Amino acid sequence: MKISKTDAQKWFELFAQIQDSGEDLGIHQMEIVYSTMSQIEERVEHDHEELKAQIPHLRSLNGRTLYVGPDELFPRGCRGCLTGTGLTAIRKTNRCNIQCPFCYNYGELDCQEPIGEGLWEIGGGKYRVEDMDLLLSIQRKPGSICYVYLEPFMEIEKYYPMIRKFHDAGIHQHMYTNGTLANEKNLKELAEAGLDELRFNLGATNCSDKVIENIRLAAKCIPYVGIETPMTPDFYAQFHQKKEAILSTGLQFMNCAELHLNENNIGNYEGENFYMSRLGYFSPVWSRNLTLTLMAEADRESWPIVVHDCSNRTKFARDLHLRAMENGWFGSTTYGREFDQIPCYAFLPILYDPDFTFLEEEELPKGFRFEDIVL
Ligand code: SF4
Repeated sequence: MKISKTDAQKWFELFAQIQDSGEDLGIHQMEIVYSTMSQIEERVEHDHEELKAQIPHLRSLNGRTLYVGPDELFPRGCRGCLTGTGLTAIRKTNRCNIQCPFCYNYGELDCQEPIGEGLWEIGGGKYRVEDMDLLLSIQRKPGSICYVYLEPFMEIEKYYPMIRKFHDAGIHQHMYTNGTLANEKNLKELAEAGLDELRFNLGATNCSDKVIENIRLAAKCIPYVGIETPMTPDFYAQFHQKKEAILSTGLQFMNCAELHLNENNIGNYEGENFYMSRLGYFSPVWSRNLTLTLMAEADRESWPIVVHDCSNRTKFARDLHLRAMENGWFGSTTYGREFDQIPCYAFLPILYDPDFTFLEEEELPKGFRFEDIVL
């Protein structure tokens, strides 16, 4: 079914009411929802292809992700996760000092589950630093690990012994930070402990001068330093105000994450045009469009860094790779949507937008028309 935008609009108004009353949609109603999701996604992907065509030196990492810039600067952590032995996430800090509208924990930042005093969560298990020799001697070593969860610099001194352990084991390590609490001293200590890669979420402070200077400090002592931030119109605008300063910090890469939403942060983006990628991640349409536009600019101007399209498609490929590394069955993936049900009300703005058109439309088959009773 290639549902028309007008039909989709009418149905989604009704579906939003049904969902609002606490009821689930029926099987045939879901067919209409899926047809609409497909129509939106096809148009969005068509636009992505047009934007990609504007990037003459677009490069691909084994068909799994796209980037521009020098191959040798492609982030090691991403290479490990997309083509290597996978990525092991380590959790420690359950607090953050700021509150970003795009945070997946927005609204719950002060009540994130603690990992436990003296403990680290690695692959779902809890360990002390003293357990690392045992773990590393029994289980297969990951090629790379990364420190995720909230803001590690809230208690960065606790990280040094763990980083030292993984460094001695020859494992590539990267860490994410909003950069506000970094300083010359703690960056040097991280470097001495053996951290390989530090990624600054520059969008968290909308490109604050202090964080830009901290990127500069980090680039002097940590081997690989880059930006990883969700692409939003605010970040895109602010980045351009400070572009020269940012590009002169000595950073090596910029991972442009396609913003995806969950129940926590969707409220901060209400009214935007959304799409779903293979019925999984749910994103504002502008996010990847901004990434591809920025990549075209980087390519045109030969920026001395890699600009990486960390899109929903990349996450899709990453998960297939991780499952393959775990000997999963053919087709197994955990990539999927983060909402219990597709929130129909959220798609009304895109369906009302006169500038967003479907590529091809057909009349609905009998049994699915608005005048039919569809359950
Ligand atoms: S800096 Fe990171 S953890 Fe903190 S609020 Fe922003 S996105 Fe969330």
